[in-house]
Amino acid sequence: MPELPEVESLRRMLLESARGRKIVAAAIREPRLRRTVADDFIRKITGRGIDAIDRRAKYLLLRLSGAATLLVHLGMSGSLTHRGKDFADLEFDPAHDHLRLELDDGSALVYNDPRRFGLMKLVDSFELDSVQELRGLGPEPLEDGFNPGYLFRATRRRRAAIKNLLMDQRIVAGIGNIYACEILFRCRIRPGRAAGRITRREAGLIASHTKRVLANAIGDGGTTFRNYRDSRGQPGRFAARLQVYGREDQPCYACGTPIKCRVLGQRSSFYCPKCQH
Ligand SMILES: [Zn+2]
Repeated sequence: MPELPEVESLRRMLLESARGRKIVAAAIREPRLRRTVADDFIRKITGRGIDAIDRRAKYLLLRLSGAATLLVHLGMSGSLTHRGKDFADLEFDPAHDHLRLELDDGSALVYNDPRRFGLMKLVDSFELDSVQELRGLGPEPLEDGFNPGYLFRATRRRRAAIKNLLMDQRIVAGIGNIYACEILFRCRIRPGRAAGRITRREAGLIASHTKRVLANAIGDGGTTFRNYRDSRGQPGRFAARLQVYGREDQPCYACGTPIKCRVLGQRSSFYCPKCQH
């Protein structure tokens, strides 16, 4: 499932390849995604230029001319690829190419999503902050608002597991299961520990490791487990650097103890029972 580093990697690539292009035509093959794509989507998006590409949490924001923004969420298995003449689309099943934006240089942005949990929504740029998907999101983990003091305050009197709090988008936006596991391993904190029992020093560790892990993952183009692909159809490379995620029963890289997996908040949580407390 794409998290912040995957969406940020995608944003940077699309910024290079698609900014300044104009959408000359659009086609929808399957409108039933997480929400059904609006009836007037094609009419409203055609003719607009791609001015900028931003990101908020796991949402990609394509800033279009005429004060419209295309809000994109990749869901569980979505990809937004920029397909030019040299694009190898062999691994993309055309049956799952749900939406296609033709650009003025003959290339196309294609949204492919086998499980159809993604989102494609055109919104008025002036109303972006109040749109349901973005309203109430916590600070971006890579920005200054996410710092030791903030995290320490946010965890006080909270009995929820620290890992669930890190994945709560109202506390911090964009961290999902993979990176929450990886961050807590580096902090030597068990995922199931009550958030209120995090010390001030540990809040500092979590803040700094969060920034480091996410920055490294962005540099590696994200993590691919199953479906994630970047704008050129390539997988992310961070999987090779994972310390605990997906490694149940395999020896901890730090101490050799088998990695454990425990379900927390319906998600598999991986940790080393010796290194993490
Ligand atoms: Zn260990």
